[in-house]
Amino acid sequence: MTSVIRLYVDHPLGAGQSVPLTSKQSHYLFTVMRKGLGERLQIFNGTDGEWLAEVSNSSKKTGYLQCEKRSKQQLLPPDLWLMFAPLKKSRSELVVEKATEMGAQKIMPVKTDFTNFDHIRKERLQSQAVEAAEQCGGTYVPEIPELQKLTKVLSNWDERKIMFCDETISGKSISLPNIEAPWAILVGPEGGFSAREREMLMDMPQVERVTLGPRILRAETAAVAALTLWQFTMGDWT
Ligand code: SAM
Repeated sequence: MTSVIRLYVDHPLGAGQSVPLTSKQSHYLFTVMRKGLGERLQIFNGTDGEWLAEVSNSSKKTGYLQCEKRSKQQLLPPDLWLMFAPLKKSRSELVVEKATEMGAQKIMPVKTDFTNFDHIRKERLQSQAVEAAEQCGGTYVPEIPELQKLTKVLSNWDERKIMFCDETISGKSISLPNIEAPWAILVGPEGGFSAREREMLMDMPQVERVTLGPRILRAETAAVAALTLWQFTMGDWT
């Protein structure tokens, strides 16, 4: 069985709507996948659901699709952010891929005291989120803002709850409370959190310290475990 191609497009979608392809998408569709006029695929733009569309114009570098009918309603993720400290190149990409699949609404790279990385490849991470949404059947692509300092982010924090994944309480049974509210998960870097970051977090009434079990997980594993725990407790899995 061949699976139908899904593409994210940055264009409004609706019945009869003509949608231009980027040169990268045209190359993928017509040269790599050898698709042509009249072939069907699924497209989504993050707001109008998923649409069945037909290739109405094709060349090596450009192409157009025409929307036929909606194949899936728009599904927005729960109001859940993931904050993580950037990891070595491909491991940050893994976090973005997994967090998109797991239904995070926003994926925020934060620079912590023990993070060695001063910059991220934002465009690369954003296209990782697009690819993950294309392959998992999602209709939403999480936003990835610029890297910001964790202490600065926390000093401007509103009432959003924070699920602080704290490896120092691992093994103790401190579980995630089921509180209906916007949430953000916070996962630290390889070196964990500094004393001043811990102090700042512990002073915030929005913070819930949570253990992810008796073993110390790598940051990317911790992100997936935390997202699973949150989704199971309060998310859109049911
Ligand atoms: N520096 C720490 C150490 O060596 O003990 C390890 C940090 S861990 C690799 C990276 C992040 O994953 C932690 O800061 C925490 O947010 C999360 N994490 C890993 N294991 C965890 C656990 N068992 N419970 C809660 N959070 C955990």
